[in-house]
Amino acid sequence: MTTTLPTADQLREEVRAWLAAEWTGLAPAEDRWSTTPERIAWLEKVVAAGYAVPTWPVEWSGRAYPAELADVIAAEFDAANAPGARQDKYSIPANTVLAFGTEKLKNDLLHDVLTERSRTCLFYSEPGAGSDLAGVRTTAVRDGDRWIVNGQKVWTSGAKTADYALLIARTDWDVPKHKGLSYFVVPMHQPGVDIRPLVQITGEAHFNEVFLTDVEIPADYLVGDEGKGWRVLQTALAYERSIMGDGARASRHGSIADDLVELARERGRLADPVIRDNLATVLALRELNALNNARAKAAAEQGTSSSVMSLGKLAMSGILHAEGRLRTDIAGPETLLAGDDNPVADDVNFLALNAFFTSIGGGTDQIQRTIIAERVLGLPKEPEIDRDLPFRAVRRS
Ligand SMILES: Cc1cc2nc3c(=O)[nH]c(=O)nc-3n(C[C@H](O)[C@H](O)[C@H](O)COP(=O)(O)OP(=O)(O)OC[C@H]3O[C@@H](n4cnc5c(N)ncnc54)[C@H](O)[C@@H]3O)c2cc1C
Repeated sequence: MTTTLPTADQLREEVRAWLAAEWTGLAPAEDRWSTTPERIAWLEKVVAAGYAVPTWPVEWSGRAYPAELADVIAAEFDAANAPGARQDKYSIPANTVLAFGTEKLKNDLLHDVLTERSRTCLFYSEPGAGSDLAGVRTTAVRDGDRWIVNGQKVWTSGAKTADYALLIARTDWDVPKHKGLSYFVVPMHQPGVDIRPLVQITGEAHFNEVFLTDVEIPADYLVGDEGKGWRVLQTALAYERSIMGDGARASRHGSIADDLVELARERGRLADPVIRDNLATVLALRELNALNNARAKAAAEQGTSSSVMSLGKLAMSGILHAEGRLRTDIAGPETLLAGDDNPVADDVNFLALNAFFTSIGGGTDQIQRTIIAERVLGLPKEPEIDRDLPFRAVRRS
């Protein structure tokens, strides 16, 4: 069956009218790891209207639209400050499961993830495997119609509120490290999942170490083929790198203007030539990076290289640090008075510290530089002496 696509103008009108009728605003959730019943109810409407994942097939709540039309929907949602549209561009669990998951997994997960009825976290890093993620030792063993998992994960953001985890685990120790990995979705609410919070530099404790003891995964929660987890992971990481930094600008108290020019004006610093110079630099870098990200996302949507995402992630990390320094300069000596009694200083300090999130999470700045060197610039590859050894024979501490 062929469906006639609307023009961009027709669609813009449709979405604008829909938002005018439906969108009345939402109270914010406690933080980005939490949701609210009102938010879930809103997301249900967005999914039902086909705005959540417009490029997806109709049978999975999509409209089978090309990316340009989907972007029209996203622009209208952005203008209204309404959440939930264009998750086909951003959602790590939804896009990974749609691309590689079994029918059962898609049925169990997709709708609930898009509506935030179910939250997810990422079981990737381990104490001995962060940058060298292919070195994970958490092991999944097939036992009839389930997998049994044992091991330890660390730095797991949002584990306490998650209903499912996306797991990379070793399913074969006798082949080279990248070839013995499989990707799973793990139901979190079961015995054997032991979550312990870790305090971050910002004072928050959103990430955790997680101990997994005889944890069970249904056989059809394997994502992609057994032993092909590295490939699935690359898709999931590309989505993650494309969104890194988006959440890093939310301050704790909301006490300072998000707009840096406005912040400088409010604090009487807009005439200062050094502040003006740094403002111009940061704003120009933001603009350039937005254009680069648009290029990377367009390339990813057409199935070509996602390595350009690494350029955007690395640049975003630099921009967030530069913004952090600039806010500190604008607010001046007051930033020494941190703590809840001084929300302005607390927000400025929080954002400066939170910039490290983007330099480390989802692959560090150094690792992004290696990816850019090898895959974007075509420089020779870093030597990897253990690449072709069976993982069992790789020397480990
Ligand atoms: C805020 C935050 C949230 C996170 N959330 C999650 C999460 O939800 N789930 C999850 O699984 N993980 C998460 N992580 C973990 C993150 O992915 C890892 O911290 C990251 O991949 C680095 O791994 P590592 O900490 O083991 O450092 P290591 O890999 O030990 O690296 C230490 C240092 O050595 C450098 N280095 C290592 N190898 C090389 C190399 N080949 N060339 C040059 N330099 C190198 C690194 O850049 C780094 O500076 C999170 C991290 C942060 C900061």
